[in-house]
Amino acid sequence: MQTVEYLVVGAGMSGLGFTAWLRAEAAARGRPLPEVLVLEADDEPGGYCKTIEQDGFVWDFSGHFFHFKHKDIEAWLRARMDGEVRTVARRAAIRVAGHDIDFPFQKNIHQLPHDDFLSCLHDLYFRHEDGPDATPGSFKEMLYRRFGRSIAEMFLVPYNQKLYATDLDRLDQDAMGRFFPHADIADIIRNFKHPDSGGYNATFTYPAHGAIEYVRALLREVPSSQLALGERLVSIDLRRQLALTTKRELGFKRLVSSAPLPRLLAACGVEHDATAFTWNKVLVFNLGFDRKGKEGLHWMYFPDPDVVFYRVGWYDNILAGDRMSLYVEIGADKDAELDVPRLRERVLADLEREGLVDGHLLVSEHAVVLDPAYVHITQASMAEHARVRRLLEAAGVYSVGRYGGWTYCSIEDNLVETRALARTFGPLL
Ligand SMILES: Cc1cc2nc3c(=O)[nH]c(=O)nc-3n(C[C@H](O)[C@H](O)[C@H](O)COP(=O)(O)OP(=O)(O)OC[C@H]3O[C@@H](n4cnc5c(N)ncnc54)[C@H](O)[C@@H]3O)c2cc1C
Repeated sequence: MQTVEYLVVGAGMSGLGFTAWLRAEAAARGRPLPEVLVLEADDEPGGYCKTIEQDGFVWDFSGHFFHFKHKDIEAWLRARMDGEVRTVARRAAIRVAGHDIDFPFQKNIHQLPHDDFLSCLHDLYFRHEDGPDATPGSFKEMLYRRFGRSIAEMFLVPYNQKLYATDLDRLDQDAMGRFFPHADIADIIRNFKHPDSGGYNATFTYPAHGAIEYVRALLREVPSSQLALGERLVSIDLRRQLALTTKRELGFKRLVSSAPLPRLLAACGVEHDATAFTWNKVLVFNLGFDRKGKEGLHWMYFPDPDVVFYRVGWYDNILAGDRMSLYVEIGADKDAELDVPRLRERVLADLEREGLVDGHLLVSEHAVVLDPAYVHITQASMAEHARVRRLLEAAGVYSVGRYGGWTYCSIEDNLVETRALARTFGPLL
């Protein structure tokens, strides 16, 4: 039986990132390459950062745009990429009751029709806060307390309810972490005169051949002999440090998994509170048309519950394409049955009703379900995650990434986290 020093589960950004960082760590210490094997259930690497190139269109598994805080990580990736990478200043809008305003909603209420603007401003000023120290009991309560009833009910609540496909009262007040565009009353009023809709993704980068180009950059540091595609991890014997895959039995000293945490726990036979882990799934339609549509905009949010999608994005306005190339996202509960052909018809009808498709001919299409997509961060999920993480790490198992860490994070966060983990193993190399 083969035994490896590091068994990595998943060849997405986290699994490949960890493998590449470990190699860099060994090189920096003048140590030989550690024995690493990356298991990937799919026949191709990339995880959620795969790209489809079809009929001249470039599509991801929903728009995957990159925003780097760590310039060294961006430079490291770019040094391993050949093609063009575009840097784009975000143009995002929200459609509320037939009016388009800039994103984020709370900073652009002055663009609403006069009466709606007055309601938002009035409720913002007289919002009920229990004093600066009071912590809201849920995500929904946070929205009402910080922004008042009208901002909450015109956009923040209906939009997030469509996205998360759950009651927002279940979610922790900080469920979106740094990805929630916070603004205080001074920011909001200042924005009336001096627009600064900023946020974490005010500018982003995107390769001309899609998100997979960043995966390919990581693959340059992962020899193909270390990559086992089409091989799924089935179960783990934590005590004996043995992994059973669909093809063989493997021994390991340490296991780094980017598989969704509940599935890892089941594979390890770790007793846990399964009800603590809930999530949504997202159905993505990528649609290519015969000619251009709306110009200038990169994506648009739709809080209206009568519109089936919560967001639509225009790849052609990011990549300067000459034909409209859309991604359309629909949120659903993890247990919902998705009738994809019926939803496709609804998407096409709603795109037309919203005036985004106007006599265009659909010439190419693709659909994918991301399951899980957005995990529900709740008090229960955080407590259970902390408990099982300690237990797994004591057995040499590290659960990382967006789904291994059961969190809301970006691709850059996946790389930052796995680099830190690889560095902790440095002294052992
Ligand atoms: C709708 C949506 C939009 C997003 N947009 C952005 C964006 O614009 N910018 C951004 O920075 N981030 C974005 N993200 C987040 C980004 O997709 C993730 O942070 C990132 O892809 C996670 O990478 P990962 O490697 O941790 O997980 P994954 O990409 O899920 O990779 C895990 C891999 O493990 C494999 N695997 C699972 N179980 C097993 C098993 N038992 N055996 C073997 N292999 C297994 C899977 O096949 C998969 O390849 C978005 C996410 C979603 C859902």
